[in-house]
Amino acid sequence: MKFRKDANDDLVVSELPEILLTVLNSLEAESMILLPGDVPLFQSDGISAFGLLRDGKISTEELAALIRVVRRTNETHRGSIEIARGPIGEGKREVKISITPLNEDGMVLVLVSDESEARRINAVRRDFVANVSHELKTPIGALGLLSEAILGAKDQPDAVVKFATRMQHEAKRLTELVQEIIDLSRLQSSDPLSKAFPVEVSEVVREAVNQAQINSEARGIYVEIGKLDEATVIGDRDQLIAAVHNLIENAINYSPEDTKVSVVAQRKDQLIEISVTDQGIGIAEEDQSRIFERFYRVDPARSRETGGTGLGLSIVKHVALNHGGDVKVWSKIGVGSTFTLILPIAQEEEGNNLDS
Ligand code: ADP
Repeated sequence: MKFRKDANDDLVVSELPEILLTVLNSLEAESMILLPGDVPLFQSDGISAFGLLRDGKISTEELAALIRVVRRTNETHRGSIEIARGPIGEGKREVKISITPLNEDGMVLVLVSDESEARRINAVRRDFVANVSHELKTPIGALGLLSEAILGAKDQPDAVVKFATRMQHEAKRLTELVQEIIDLSRLQSSDPLSKAFPVEVSEVVREAVNQAQINSEARGIYVEIGKLDEATVIGDRDQLIAAVHNLIENAINYSPEDTKVSVVAQRKDQLIEISVTDQGIGIAEEDQSRIFERFYRVDPARSRETGGTGLGLSIVKHVALNHGGDVKVWSKIGVGSTFTLILPIAQEEEGNNLDS
């Protein structure tokens, strides 16, 4: 490679072959080519966000030292370094770097990529595993204690019946919890729309209400289907029914007896909004942004009582996102809540009649 120098005796970037610039600009990592003295010959568009070069000098001593080593040894270095988030404050972030010597004169290529998003995802995953283990331990521990209690009370039939009934309850809880964990990991790992077909929204609502009938009758809550606008969405029927069903079950579980839950579906331009409204206990504003997190419950004791696992709403959220939609909540303590599942309506194209 030959470089032309400008009036200040600096090398001119336009001398880099076009194809090399295209390659560097299309890499996932940000890049810069440094000449001896750390003069930048090339910098990709996003590299300035890392603040590695300030006043013509490498701003972190750690990176400057690594570049010196690469120049001396003529060997590529790969690793990660911590850099300041900004010129002030103590905030740091970890970035992955790779430094490659390009020629004997000390020209090096530096590639930089942000690791913080990958680390955040890893942390979420770790938390999930820790939470799952914790949630499983509770019913498993209870089963162990109850079986001991039965052994200790084997001559008292009443006590045996009482403990065995509670064992059944814990076993059911455990089954539900495991099922929801499986559902959630399926939703997260599979291609969400690999089983996508046209689905009628009114049918999804009716089926979800049907599935909630036993619970609603047992708790004395009337579930009413209001106006259902016609709409077809492309998606996985079972996932959509499960999502609406979860919203209805919650509406029932967090409402006092003799109240009403209503479900409606309203078209808004190219979207269909399925809303489930209850006259229940409501959710405080500070909790509203957290209830979609896995295992988050406002009142863990109440949730357990109704067989809740804290996973229902994260399943709803996943189903919504997988279908290109979203889920929203409006709620007021003591008044009630409305959860709205928003989905894009299928586009009817000529020659692709979805009703056929
Ligand atoms: P759970 O299995 O505990 O119901 P979810 O993920 O479905 O878990 O809901 C998370 C939390 O959000 C619940 O524990 C409850 O505190 C709150 N919540 C959900 N739906 C409602 C509702 N309709 N009314 C009041 N609180 C609700």
